[in-house]
Amino acid sequence: MLEVNKELEQYILEHTTQEENVLKELTRETHINVMRPRMLSGHLQGQLLKMLSSMLSPKNILEIGTYTGYSGICLAQGLAEGGKLYTIDINDEIEDFTMSFIEKAELTEKIEFLIGDALEIIPSLDKQWDLVFIDADKRDYLNYYNAVIDNVRSGGFILADDVLWDGKVVEKVEKNDKQTQGIIAFNQFVQEDERVENVIIPLRHGITLIRKK
Ligand code: SAH
Repeated sequence: MLEVNKELEQYILEHTTQEENVLKELTRETHINVMRPRMLSGHLQGQLLKMLSSMLSPKNILEIGTYTGYSGICLAQGLAEGGKLYTIDINDEIEDFTMSFIEKAELTEKIEFLIGDALEIIPSLDKQWDLVFIDADKRDYLNYYNAVIDNVRSGGFILADDVLWDGKVVEKVEKNDKQTQGIIAFNQFVQEDERVENVIIPLRHGITLIRKK
């Protein structure tokens, strides 16, 4: 999303810690084997997620929207000793592919991969979250937020991906564009929610950092 030209983009990537081999392979294989590879977080955002997670050193992370595991692997790398990342995806077709990369990244002990609808699974997870990453169905962002907020510890963070949605949040919204409407409703709700403070980083498709007071 951040408007940088190709040269600057290249420079940024060359001055950001190199992507690990397993993440490079995951990106390559996702493009060859899986539908809609655009959804994968990628080098820059992945490194940001890893850094944010490392700063917090969370015991419990919840990720909503696993896909092929890129962001989950990055987030799990910042876990505290003995910590766990619970990650949910509704699409059971990606299960084997994603699990194979969690194994390659040697994170099977730290990542619990759950298949099903996040809105059904979240209430069954009796955890206090230090960090939550929302990256699933845009129409349900506000529902995910409401499902987790009470279980986020004070001082804990929620990160939400795609909050600028290719700039569509400031364009005329089509009546049937439920995804953009979902993102706009979420952004507005967070902005007015007295329980949190928030900032949008215009990286890639936009990522909001939300801190529970
Ligand atoms: N976080 C991933 C990308 C996630 S893409 C990465 O950075 O690489 C969004 C994912 O959300 C898709 O795999 C989709 O299957 C999943 N999803 C959509 N609706 C969902 C729901 N209700 N519950 C759980 N997962 C859902």
